[in-house]
Amino acid sequence: MASSTEEELEMNKKKVCVVGAGVSGLVSARELRREGHDVTVMEQSGGVGGQWLYDPRTDASDPLGAAGVHSSVYASLRLTSPRDIMGFSDFPFFPRSNDDGDSRRYPGHAEFLRYIRDYCDTFGLMDAVRLNTKVLHVGRPLLDDDGVVTRWTVRYCSSGHGVSEHEAVAEEEFDAVVVASGHYSQPRLPAINGMDKWTRRQLHSHSYRVPDSFHAEVVVLVGFHQSGVDIALELCKVARDVHVVSVKSLEGLTPGVRKAVPRHHNLHLHLQACRSSACARMGRSCSLTARVSSPTPSSTALGTTSRSRSWTREGW
Ligand SMILES: Cc1cc2nc3c(=O)[nH]c(=O)nc-3n(C[C@H](O)[C@H](O)[C@H](O)COP(=O)(O)OP(=O)(O)OC[C@H]3O[C@@H](n4cnc5c(N)ncnc54)[C@H](O)[C@@H]3O)c2cc1C
Repeated sequence: MASSTEEELEMNKKKVCVVGAGVSGLVSARELRREGHDVTVMEQSGGVGGQWLYDPRTDASDPLGAAGVHSSVYASLRLTSPRDIMGFSDFPFFPRSNDDGDSRRYPGHAEFLRYIRDYCDTFGLMDAVRLNTKVLHVGRPLLDDDGVVTRWTVRYCSSGHGVSEHEAVAEEEFDAVVVASGHYSQPRLPAINGMDKWTRRQLHSHSYRVPDSFHAEVVVLVGFHQSGVDIALELCKVARDVHVVSVKSLEGLTPGVRKAVPRHHNLHLHLQACRSSACARMGRSCSLTARVSSPTPSSTALGTTSRSRSWTREGW
């Protein structure tokens, strides 16, 4: 016979749809399951991990990122927060005991993806995840006679099984929906005078993966926060010159970056400028790489990235 607690759990059990299998969606799924709910995670891509699922494809042909590549992670990206605080409290992000991982305190992105996959395996989450399933619409809630929300309609399409998108569209009802679709996939372009007249290559860091195609070029890089610093220092190795346009003076940079800048003879830091005098001096052979996303309320026209860094990686 079921105990009263079991009966209570059964009565309160909800059918929940979680949109997105990044870290937010996966931890929501796990916690909801722990409370006894029936969870389905719908994930548009072919794997879990969200931003951490590195995708060599880019939205380069579309500076606004509407082409639909989710991850903005570049090949050389390392975590900006130490592994000690990246893990969930009951599933620490330890280095692997065997030698096939990246045991650094600020490891590369692949190590964190490995951790996310281990998390799914350890807690059996993959039975709840439907990959290649894109949520198209979350419908108005259905109300009962007293006007209380009872159910939500979720419309989705499944792909990757050889069926056309149209054929695979389906709808399902849920008691609740958790939206965990992420917020770093759509680049925010800065408004810079003359940008629309720029005839050379223009790229947001959302679409930056590797430096190779910048070989021997003169590059203007707008923004010098986490991604800007990483990309500038990487480009210095292949580009002829890298001109960083930033609101930050050298004094505003972390000690590691402050030391690294003078070590690169072809890296030039310019304070904020628009249709910049820097560009004018550099002539026409420039590529423009911009990194601006989710500005903070105090951001300027150039904006800032909203990833916060309270720790400094070594090695710059
Ligand atoms: C370049 C970069 C570096 C970063 N570095 C760090 C770091 O060092 N430390 C740190 O803590 N954070 C970092 N972040 C922040 C990072 O985004 C978060 O750590 C984390 O990935 C956010 O997880 P999330 O689940 O909220 O979103 P995401 O990881 O973006 O996952 C969202 C998921 O939802 C799916 N999805 C979206 N729309 C739909 C739909 N309609 N239907 C179905 N699925 C959908 C996506 O495919 C994706 O899998 C970084 C971000 C970027 C861009």
